[in-house]
Amino acid sequence: MSRTECDVVVIGAGPGGCAASIELARAGHSVTLIDKAAFPRDKICGDGLTTSALRSLEYLGLSLGSLPTARPIHNVVVRSPRGFEATFPLPEGPGLFGVVATRLELDAALVQVARDTGVVVREQCGIAELHESPSHLTVGGSDGWSCSTQHVVAADGMWSPTRKLVGANIAGYRGDWHAFRQYVTDVSERAQRELFISFDAAILPGYFWSFPLADGRANIGFGIQRGHKHSIQEMKLLWPQLLSLPYISEFLGPNYTPAAPHRAWPIPCQVDSMTAHAAGVLFVGDAVAPCDVMTGEGIGQALETGLIAARTISEQFGNRTAAGPLYQQRVRSEFTPDHQMASLLVRALQHRKGARAALRVAATNDWTRRNFARWLFEDYPRGIALEPQLWKRGALSGPGAFHSHGGDPR
Ligand SMILES: Cc1cc2nc3c(=O)[nH]c(=O)nc-3n(C[C@H](O)[C@H](O)[C@H](O)COP(=O)(O)OP(=O)(O)OC[C@H]3O[C@@H](n4cnc5c(N)ncnc54)[C@H](O)[C@@H]3O)c2cc1C
Repeated sequence: MSRTECDVVVIGAGPGGCAASIELARAGHSVTLIDKAAFPRDKICGDGLTTSALRSLEYLGLSLGSLPTARPIHNVVVRSPRGFEATFPLPEGPGLFGVVATRLELDAALVQVARDTGVVVREQCGIAELHESPSHLTVGGSDGWSCSTQHVVAADGMWSPTRKLVGANIAGYRGDWHAFRQYVTDVSERAQRELFISFDAAILPGYFWSFPLADGRANIGFGIQRGHKHSIQEMKLLWPQLLSLPYISEFLGPNYTPAAPHRAWPIPCQVDSMTAHAAGVLFVGDAVAPCDVMTGEGIGQALETGLIAARTISEQFGNRTAAGPLYQQRVRSEFTPDHQMASLLVRALQHRKGARAALRVAATNDWTRRNFARWLFEDYPRGIALEPQLWKRGALSGPGAFHSHGGDPR
């Protein structure tokens, strides 16, 4: 058994935990980051990086050169339930507005940035115990390691075992979306180039995606909001049906081949109601359910909540009583306008007519097409239409991420 001390223990080394660890270490804190997995490890995901995620990754010091599968996105093609297709161009620069990169590579690269910043990374160490006393917290790992610390950040995902340990989980909650993902190889030239989203009538309220990766591969899948006409069991049956639809098989091309079986995972979107702290622990990323209600994206949100948690701890170091409520207030004020805006749109997208009308409005002219793409890729806050104070000069014309690095992953 090894007993150690550090300023902050971070549980979970996905994007949320790495962002928190790197920011805390940069502020001069001693940080131990534990994860039950050994890296590189896969995470079931669409692998899509929005502009806001890319900006946070650049800020954290990630090099896109460390992601060999990364593919910049220039065009987003959206298909309505009746088959109307619209192409939305992302700005051609400066910088990047959308990238697809496998989580296997992205998360391992982030863990390496954390190590390089001085974070002690402990792999294959699951959270096993957590106790709070007035002076400190004690964290115990599944490998017998234990640590005395001032603050704990839990970034251990949708099912957050830490939430359960401190009794802060919502009984019966299984996420707001359920999504399937599969890697395929040898896709058509079009599927290697375009990011494709289809609001197919068979899966409303939900959508099919095909996101291009390097070397003729693509990440394909579909997500459905829970509580509507499809059960999770039915979703398994829907997958082969979807893949056999003529427009999908044509898009993927005659030679496409599954590279691995499909896998499914839930997506949590309850950031405006879920408690963000308990028993001296701050929850970040999927553990605080900040994913976008409309698209299910959560990497940018995980990075952002990690950064907010780190800054709150730095400001309130040693004062857990103040840090928790302050963090919750900051997370809610950051995400609630976007959440409300996305919830309104979700209502429209639940029905064929609504999805068709929304797409036609977005595709009205060049300006709406360009700005819809930027909005979809979280280049500026989703809630901008509801909260005028979110408008900033240059909100619709700022550069993308990594523009000082040449703006291209490879
Ligand atoms: C099918 C699907 C497609 C998606 N597509 C996209 C997309 O294209 N773009 C996007 O932005 N978002 C997407 N998302 C959402 C995105 O994957 C998540 O929001 C994001 O991974 C959250 O990051 P995180 O750091 O909070 O948690 P995670 O990435 O889940 O990381 C949690 C970490 O905690 C560790 N952990 C778990 N249990 C323990 C334990 N007991 N002890 C220690 N460590 C533990 C895990 O090993 C893991 O490394 C998708 C989700 C799904 C399900």
